[in-house]
Amino acid sequence: MTTHAHPGRRGLLFVMSSPSGAGKTSLSRRLVADHADLDLSISATTRAPRPGEKDGREYHFVDRPTFDAMAQKNEFLEYAEVHENCYGSPREPIMQSLAAGQDVLFDIDWQGAMSIVDNVPDDVVTVYILPPSIADLRRRLYARAQDEAEVIEGRLARTKEEILMWDRYDYVIVNEDFDMAYAELAHIYHAERLKRARNPWLIPFMDGLQAEEV
Ligand code: 5GP
Repeated sequence: MTTHAHPGRRGLLFVMSSPSGAGKTSLSRRLVADHADLDLSISATTRAPRPGEKDGREYHFVDRPTFDAMAQKNEFLEYAEVHENCYGSPREPIMQSLAAGQDVLFDIDWQGAMSIVDNVPDDVVTVYILPPSIADLRRRLYARAQDEAEVIEGRLARTKEEILMWDRYDYVIVNEDFDMAYAELAHIYHAERLKRARNPWLIPFMDGLQAEEV
């Protein structure tokens, strides 16, 4: 399904957060794959690539001095330290997408989400993805087999704190069934794009309607 692109449409920053393992990555990647006018913001991170991850696809993998230099030069729209690693959303590709009339999707933690909300409140929509239970989350993280048990248990312990941020988000989806969660996510995205204020092309369109003879 594609949504309507109009000249003069205001781009949307669509921000998703969740504890890792709650399915946010699969949901966000599918939303981007299904919408040609939605670009994914690829973050820079100092964390090491996991098996199967490719530089420039999941993340731009950089070392700490490179990350710090980028932060120093104000090259991030937002950045934060998450689980002892640094993550940041490079500003330039985001600005290019918005200038080209694209929307941008972010897969970032609550600190980054709230910092974008503070900086550009009118053009941001935030969605939090929750797992159906912590037990389910633990199962998913072990099944994914990308991290050591110690790392997984550390993340689960922090999840309890992270999910307290749920009520700062515009929307919350409980990802019990992938297809249902995806349908909810797509509905949110489509409805948000249709908001009047995001469609300034309606003003000349209305002028045209008014100018028509009855
Ligand atoms: P992971 O290491 O599991 O890929 O990601 C760990 C956490 O960092 C996730 O919650 C993810 O959403 C978050 N994250 C990824 N990129 C960014 C970013 O650019 N900024 C912020 N603030 N968080 C990010």
